[in-house]
Formats: sequence, C-alpha cells, structure tokens
Amino acid sequence: MSSDRYPLWHPFTQMARFHREPQLVVARAEGNRLIDTEGREYIDGVASLWANVHGHSNSHIVAAIQAQTAKLQHSTLLGITHEPAIELGRRLLAHLPGRSHVFFSENGASAVEVALKMAVQYWSNRGQPERNRIAVPEMAYHGDTIGAVSVGGEGPFRDVYGPLLFEPLRFNNAYRYRCDNCATETSCTDTCLQSLGALLEARSKEIAAVIIEPRVQGAAGMIVAPEGHIAAIRALCDKFDVLLIADEVATGFGKTGAMFACDLEGVIPDITVLGKGITGGYLPLSATVTTEKVYQAFHGEEGLKLFHGHTYAGNPICCAAAIASFDIFESEQVLVRARERSELLATLLADLVADHPIVGDIRQQGLMIGIELVGDRETRAPLPAEIEAGWQVCIAARDRGVFIRPLGDVIVLMPPLSIEEDELTQICEAVVYGLNRVPSV
Ligand code: PMP
Repeated sequence: MSSDRYPLWHPFTQMARFHREPQLVVARAEGNRLIDTEGREYIDGVASLWANVHGHSNSHIVAAIQAQTAKLQHSTLLGITHEPAIELGRRLLAHLPGRSHVFFSENGASAVEVALKMAVQYWSNRGQPERNRIAVPEMAYHGDTIGAVSVGGEGPFRDVYGPLLFEPLRFNNAYRYRCDNCATETSCTDTCLQSLGALLEARSKEIAAVIIEPRVQGAAGMIVAPEGHIAAIRALCDKFDVLLIADEVATGFGKTGAMFACDLEGVIPDITVLGKGITGGYLPLSATVTTEKVYQAFHGEEGLKLFHGHTYAGNPICCAAAIASFDIFESEQVLVRARERSELLATLLADLVADHPIVGDIRQQGLMIGIELVGDRETRAPLPAEIEAGWQVCIAARDRGVFIRPLGDVIVLMPPLSIEEDELTQICEAVVYGLNRVPSV
C-alpha cells in the first residue's frame, strides 16, 4: 500500500522510516511466536511490548475470554460492581501481602496517574495539602500521558511537552555502568540513595510520594539497580514519612523472576501500579493497589473520595483474562520455570554475546535484559547516533526469525515467561547475527 494511502499513524514510530522498512504484518500468534501474513514465524522476543506472560493463544485464557464474552461484555464500576472484578481483586490481593484495595484502570499510564492523584489527595485529605510534590529518580519512565510524562526522565520523551507538565523533584538513579561515582568501583557506592536521603532531609515536608520502577528502570534501557535498593528507598520513605509508589507495570507478573519486583526485597509499597502482564498480555487492564492506610484516608465523607474513573476500568472480559492468567501462575510452576530460563539466558548471553566488540554492558534481572552497545568498550563511548545500531540489530534479527525492539542503542530482550530453551538460543544467535551487521566505526 502506498504510504499516502496507509491509514495508520503508529505509536512511537517515525512513519517515514516505517514506510522505508520491510513491513511485518502479524496475522496470528501461537505460543511464543508471531506469525505474519506470509506465514513466516518470529519469536516474540519482547513479549508484545513486555506484556505477554504465558505465550499467545493459551487455551485456558482464550476459553475464559470466550466464556465471559458470552455472559457480560461490559458494565461500569462507577457505583455498581460485577463478579469478575471482585474475583480479580481478591486474586490480586492474595499475591500482594499488606495491600487491601484495588482500583482498576485500562493502561499503565492511567494507573500511574491514579497513583499520583491518590498520593497528593492522601495528604490533602489528612490536612497536609502542602505535601504535593513527587520525587523521582533520573531517567524514569511511567507512560505517555501528561502526568506520567511529568514524572518521566528528561529527553525526547518529555522536553517538547514541557509547557504542559509539572516538575517533580529528582534524585540520582542507579545506573552503575555510567555512574560518575560507581562506574570504576568494584561495588556500588550508594550515591543515588544518598541523593534521595539528602532530598528528603531538605524537602520531605513538601513531598507527597517517591515513585520508582522497582529494581529495573525499563524504558531507560533496562537499568538494573543493586540488591537492597528498593528496601533502602522504602526505609528512607519511612524515615521521612513519605509515601512510596512502586510502578510495577513492566516488572510485574514474573518478569524479574519474582511475581513482583518488590517481592525480591520483601518491600510493601504504599501504592503499587500494575498493568501490561496483568491479563497475561491479552487485553488492556491496569490496577493501582493500595494499603489500608492509604485507602482509609479516602473513606468517609463524600468530598474525600478519589475523583477519578475510566469508562472501561475493570472491564469484565479483561478481568476474566487476568483471573485465567492467575490460574496458570497458581497451577503451573511458572516462576520456577522462568527463573530456570533466565539462568540459561544468562549463560547464553555470556557465551555468545558478551565478548562482541560493540557490546559494552549486559544487564539482566530475570527475563528483563538490556544489552548496551558502545563504540569503544574501554572508554564506554557511544556509537555514532547516525549508525542507528540498535535498529540495525533488531531489523537484521528478523532474518533469523526473531522480533525485538531496541531502546536507542540498548537491545532489549524480554520474552514471555513461557519461552523455550531452543527459542532462547535462537534469540541470542539472532542478536549476534544482527551485531555482526552493524558497520564498524
Ligand atoms: N510504567 C512503566 C514502568 C512502563 O514500562 C510503562 C510502559 N512501557 C508504563 C508505565 C505505561 O504503560 P502503558 O503503555 O500501558 O500506558
């Protein structure tokens, strides 16, 4: 189809490039593979944007969606309720100890907005409206709506929209590979935590909440924080009586090797944001989950209620998919298997990818992987931007039957938890094939 007749404008896509590149038109998907209109198969190396959990066309989830579709397609949660939402609320809370209430939305960014509004209104309802700033680490990403972009990192995702945004208070992130203080040290120097400590010491009375992507800053380039980082942030929030919001939209549902990244360190945030994998990656649904302490601040008089709600929040078909996904988590050893697969992936990356001359850093937490490409491994100097190395690698990988998407010059791998051993080998070989096609500088 000629580009002027093509009807779509794709998200986060330069359409001029889209029309230059070979098009991948997905017709169906089975297991861990996407199948295009020509019948070619591609391993879904990024789990359809970090969402898919148990593979595509899973018969249990599909049957649950079909059964619910025949019964109740949609009914609002504004003032009335339905069984799939209640059941899913219970199932979620069973996996989120210390949390008491679930507020549904439709996508990750909206659920983040809900968390931010809850945090600010929590303090207002408790008579401290001056606590209304949000603290956030550098390079954060929480989605693309105005509030979510406001708490996102500076750069192309944010700068042009500046006039529309509010300003958060920022502290250092745990980007060890490029940290001025840690990069050359044998272990982390904790300067990022010190910067949060100093910020809270000076300004906690104006801060409603700290928001973090626990353990892995995904869109920043799969930046993995050291063990203990989430717990240390929790302790600082406790010390200065500031709410902790954990955005687990990317890290939730087994991707890090635990059900939720906060579980890795036994941390209970005041507000937990979930999305993407909540339905197994089949349908749009998200949730903002709170502790009783947060919920109670909204309970009582009419004016205390949360002024927020989306039309399709908690849609029953989406809830049915999510319940079915929990059935699989609970009846099969999904997390055990995912951890085994991530160990195998670590070995494959070390054996096949790590020594490549343009690979600077490989970061991994469970099945979330970032491979940072560089022009010089010694100095860690980036590759010239015009080479678009990340893109080149990912486009070439399609020749080897693997679909992946980069974040700049970081190659991202984030397969479904159901990924098979031979598929992991194929992914790594496709990455090497792509790396070998990047012109040398
Ligand atoms: N938070 C995080 C940590 C994310 O990674 C994302 C999406 N990649 C979002 C929020 C936004 O989710 P959605 O695209 O569903 O709005």
